Amino acid sequence: MNKFNPDGQLVIEQPFLRIPHEQTKKAYRLSQKYLEKDLAFVNNHAGELVKQAKKQQLASRAQDGSAASSSATAHKLLDSMLNRLTMLKRKLSDTKADETMYLHRSKLRSVHLNELCTMTSTQDPGYEAWSHTRLNRLLVDYMFRKGYHQSATKLAHDQTIRDFADFELFRESATIEQSLRDQNCAKCLQWCSDNKSALRKVKSSLEFDLHLQEFIELARSQQTRIAIQYAKKHLLPWSETHQRQIEQAMGLLAFSALTTCEPYKQLYDTSRWQHLIDHFRTDNFSLNALADPAPLLLTLQTGLSALKCHHCYHDEDRNINCPVCQTETLGKLAESLPYSHQVNSNLVCRISGHLMNEDNPPMKLPNGRVYSYQSLQAMAVENNGEVKCPVTGQEFLFSEAKKLFIS
Ligand SMILES: [Zn+2]
Repeated sequence: MNKFNPDGQLVIEQPFLRIPHEQTKKAYRLSQKYLEKDLAFVNNHAGELVKQAKKQQLASRAQDGSAASSSATAHKLLDSMLNRLTMLKRKLSDTKADETMYLHRSKLRSVHLNELCTMTSTQDPGYEAWSHTRLNRLLVDYMFRKGYHQSATKLAHDQTIRDFADFELFRESATIEQSLRDQNCAKCLQWCSDNKSALRKVKSSLEFDLHLQEFIELARSQQTRIAIQYAKKHLLPWSETHQRQIEQAMGLLAFSALTTCEPYKQLYDTSRWQHLIDHFRTDNFSLNALADPAPLLLTLQTGLSALKCHHCYHDEDRNINCPVCQTETLGKLAESLPYSHQVNSNLVCRISGHLMNEDNPPMKLPNGRVYSYQSLQAMAVENNGEVKCPVTGQEFLFSEAKKLFIS
């Protein structure tokens, strides 16, 4: 029952390692994007510079006075190239710093998980400290997800587990979710653009839904001409996969925001913003390997399902030491979980919640109720040798209790 199984624990730790890995990849992709864009700019300018140099050569030969203007243009081009390259250097040093940080984080997380593999039992001296760290990082993750950023940050700092917390990821997600709550698509559209290829791979329609929402807002404010231009630019490229929705969107222009006619009423419904937040959250989780539900809930549910038995939800049979029997708290979380597979049954004292075995044998009272020896003895010591049945309230002498033998 208490067999130590680190592999079983590591199965649910995958996101813990994958998150910094995905973040490193993202920072690397961003560096590539900056390089491609800015080097293309510099190459174009270099081509232009060569043209200007040739012009200047011809002008010098002809001595027609245009050499000075070519030289001024060449200077401008060089300045512009220099500015661009300086900016590129700054951007690359930022992404490089990010990459280094995420790689360092990956390394520390691997070391932390590897500590578990060096242990052989839960009695290992390091196990309690390791579990404590795990609990703290799961709590930090959970609080970030629920929007308690300050508390999560404080806990991560206080427990010196900064490298086990994904501050940047959750901060960015919270900013984007807030902008959608404020009915603004710009930040989320920028996020879609930064993650274009990854979103394409998972066949996400988030970008289309955001453009559709922008179109709906233009229709709502009756800016018909701008709405049509917007649709041509941003909705039509999706016609292969979203033809029907585009047709509906165009129909929207004939209805005001007060319409009761479906599907236009639904399109104007402001609850669509919440759907966009949910959609963004799902895609963001999927792209960054964030587990859903949160690892804290997953871990709790794993433990609860191992303890859940049919007695947990019967008032009479509850065990005070069983978390599932606490029906208002952890028992609620375990409601949808399967019952554990019990190969051997255990006798548990309903007074103390302790196991009844040869060291703490079951004792039968004259009314037929059974409790553990230790519980009844403790009660008898406090009540001049008398014990009280907690179920019926009847009182007996401890000496009247009979030891039971299980065969
Ligand atoms: Zn229980």
